[in-house]
Amino acid sequence: MYQKRMQTKKIQKRLFGTNGVRGVVGKDMTPDLVLRIGEALGTLRQGQIAVGRDTRTSGEMFIGALKAGLLAAGCDVVDCGILPTPALQYLVKEHYDGGVIITASHNPPDYNGVKIIEPDGTEMGDEETLQLEDLIFAPLSISVKHWDMVGKEVAAPQMVDEYVKAIARQFRRRLGDGITVVIDPGSGPACLTTPAILRALGCRVLTINAIMDGTFPGRLPEPSPEGLSGLAALVTASNASFGIAHDGDADRAVFVDENGRFIEENQELALIARHICNESKGILVTPVSTSQMVEMVAGMAGCETVYTPVGSIYVARTMRELIDAGKRVALGGEGNGGLIFPSHQFCRDGGMTAAVMVALLANSQQDLSSLVDQLPERYLIKEKIMTSRGNELLKDLGKLYEDQAPEHMDGLKIRRGDSWVLIRVSGTEPLVRIMVDADRQQAAYEIAQEIKEVINRILNRMT
Ligand code: MG
Repeated sequence: MYQKRMQTKKIQKRLFGTNGVRGVVGKDMTPDLVLRIGEALGTLRQGQIAVGRDTRTSGEMFIGALKAGLLAAGCDVVDCGILPTPALQYLVKEHYDGGVIITASHNPPDYNGVKIIEPDGTEMGDEETLQLEDLIFAPLSISVKHWDMVGKEVAAPQMVDEYVKAIARQFRRRLGDGITVVIDPGSGPACLTTPAILRALGCRVLTINAIMDGTFPGRLPEPSPEGLSGLAALVTASNASFGIAHDGDADRAVFVDENGRFIEENQELALIARHICNESKGILVTPVSTSQMVEMVAGMAGCETVYTPVGSIYVARTMRELIDAGKRVALGGEGNGGLIFPSHQFCRDGGMTAAVMVALLANSQQDLSSLVDQLPERYLIKEKIMTSRGNELLKDLGKLYEDQAPEHMDGLKIRRGDSWVLIRVSGTEPLVRIMVDADRQQAAYEIAQEIKEVINRILNRMT
């Protein structure tokens, strides 16, 4: 029902992608560009703007350019220093007229980026971003203020503590008693937050890669299984209940179980969905790319699932729309470790996800590995096919599979019972992504084979 009404279509933008502006420092990401973004945003949004950054070596350079732009346009700036993206989002929601974070999230060390935060703490949506881009590309409409009208700046590095306390407050006291956790913030801003949050819950906390360092000496900002061998080893050596790792701006969290085994992110979402849905019923909101496992687990716990286009902003906005329509929303989340807890705020929050995992284990008589093993088995296949004619291809595929009621929310999704295949055109590279989610390995393989054959036939006809 809601799926029909909420087909938020993605709008292609010139500069901003699904996660703001991102690129290689000195090539796509220059101080001039960031200065221009600051001036444009300051022209669009007056008032007090909070800014912050992750631990990248280029962070100081870009935050300087950003602040200069905002101040020139007459905004007052509150510099919150180094902090996770969700921490700045929380502070903006509570106190400020907007925010900007300098971060490239999970990208390699030579990247950086800009993400704009709305007064309610959510990321800037498509419509507003288009307005901002118009200003960035039409510099004459930007107003640089006179000497007596430029903004003022205050430093507020202590504000991050308020975020830590806000999460700890959501849980009962001594929740984490007897639970040992190993945290790998990946040399990122979560060094300042996740250990403090879990200690406030009463956990015994050990850390690895917990000194902030923009060269990322221990592992890359993407918390991939290969980079987490140190975390896994410390978890088993210390008899910890689990290990947790964040991406470069700590809006995502991934886990290893007590045996050091990486928990695939769809399994993570399913585990937390089951925990949340058992505690209170409500709708689960997730992108079309999430494994069927999550809907199955939520359904067993009595919760309905609503799907959105791929991108956390669409999940967050749909959650808000459902709540505005009088519905109860239990949880939002993507199958990449990005989870949104509506009792806290409407954005992905890695620190909050860590705390919820403590609550999940505190309420369970079982180890994390047994809880993972009880999840429905699914088989995922992900492949890419190179083509610059992805949109034409999708149109042809849609026609070809018309009798199988394909879904067009984001790309093309074709269902076969409980299994499905999703084909999406990349926004940044000349390729289409194929994702198959099936209940049996053989079925996954067969669906992938069939769709690849059909795609290749269509592509051959085009050339
Ligand atoms: Mg991130």
